Amino acid sequence: AGETWTTDVVVIGAGPVGLFSVFELGLLDIKCHLIDILDKVGGQCAELYPEKPIYDIPAWPIISGDDLTKRLLEQIHPFGAKYHLGEMAVAVRKIEDGEHEGLWEVTTDQQTVVRAKSIVIAAGGGSFQPKKPPIPGIDGFENLGAGLGVHYAVRKMEAFRDKEIVISGGGDSALDWVLNLQPIAKRVTLIHRRDDFRAAPHSVAKMRELVAAGEMNLVIAQATALKGETGHFLESVAIEDSDGNASHLKADAFLPFFGLTMKLGPVAEFGLNLHENLIPVDTEKFETSTKGIFAIGDINHYPGKLKLILSGFHEAALMAQQAFRYVYPDKKLRFQYTTSSSELQKKMGVK
Ligand code: FAD
Repeated sequence: AGETWTTDVVVIGAGPVGLFSVFELGLLDIKCHLIDILDKVGGQCAELYPEKPIYDIPAWPIISGDDLTKRLLEQIHPFGAKYHLGEMAVAVRKIEDGEHEGLWEVTTDQQTVVRAKSIVIAAGGGSFQPKKPPIPGIDGFENLGAGLGVHYAVRKMEAFRDKEIVISGGGDSALDWVLNLQPIAKRVTLIHRRDDFRAAPHSVAKMRELVAAGEMNLVIAQATALKGETGHFLESVAIEDSDGNASHLKADAFLPFFGLTMKLGPVAEFGLNLHENLIPVDTEKFETSTKGIFAIGDINHYPGKLKLILSGFHEAALMAQQAFRYVYPDKKLRFQYTTSSSELQKKMGVK
């Protein structure tokens, strides 16, 4: 933090797509620095669902968010990217004069400055934050430790072993965590305001089977208050049904899954055209309205866009082809396969 660096490309966001761009850029001899607000790489995969299986990564029939991140790190290791973690990119400008004229400059909230010939924005949903339920004093039950108090994400399932857990919500996250935690928790209770769920039908069916078998509870009600000692421990969740009947559920942990708000954050101030908090790009180079600034992964928008990891990987490959022109304006780009090019194999460290 606080230092000034010069590199070829600066990548804002170290989610799966930002990470894979290191590989695609690296094959073209382009060095990069990555900046991420989180204190770890992997973006949503690492932060929101590290232990959940992903089934649609080509050639990986099943891989968890954490394992995908680990494999990506292994794959990009030879290219020696520099990471600035726990730092938010807050400003972007083009240097207009002096020794570094024509370079881009990205500044972080920790006063790190990275100068580069091109910028890749791989900021995903921006700085994602959980939507909190409107329960007075809920903040006082956050950060009570692993498996205790209020959690908006599950980092380590094991922390919830033998705990009394109350999960709230009707979407995929709520149902997925009900199903994942039910086998290890002492007891899981799902509360939802209506007996109607938005989650995938097979998850809902599985949950209802567990309820019918007496292996978990389903309560149609809303959480109204948390009881316990603020800053120390949670004891129970106060609930109320639609007829106004109040009761409470014993709880070591309360996990509300009310969705995430996508806070674009400082990316909105970078002077790029935006479309509903996303960055429009072309589908040939994935370049933004500003030449030399690319946007790949969940943050971008184009006709037919799918917010999938595999789409982001493809976008990274095409972005790299154009970034090459900014980094090496006088060089000719030759298309090569990793399988047969000894030059590429040398860069990957396999030859
Ligand atoms: P992200 O993973 O969002 O990473 C972006 C990073 O940028 C973040 O780490 C963020 O901290 C950082 N950032 C943002 N703004 C700044 C800033 N100003 N400065 C510094 N850093 C910044 N996709 C699939 O393909 N298959 C699935 O099965 C699948 N399952 C999913 C399940 C869940 C529960 C969720 C939430 C998503 C799932 N996805 C799945 C979607 C997938 O995770 C995203 O498509 C993918 O993470 C997008 O990668 P990304 O690198 O573009 O962005």
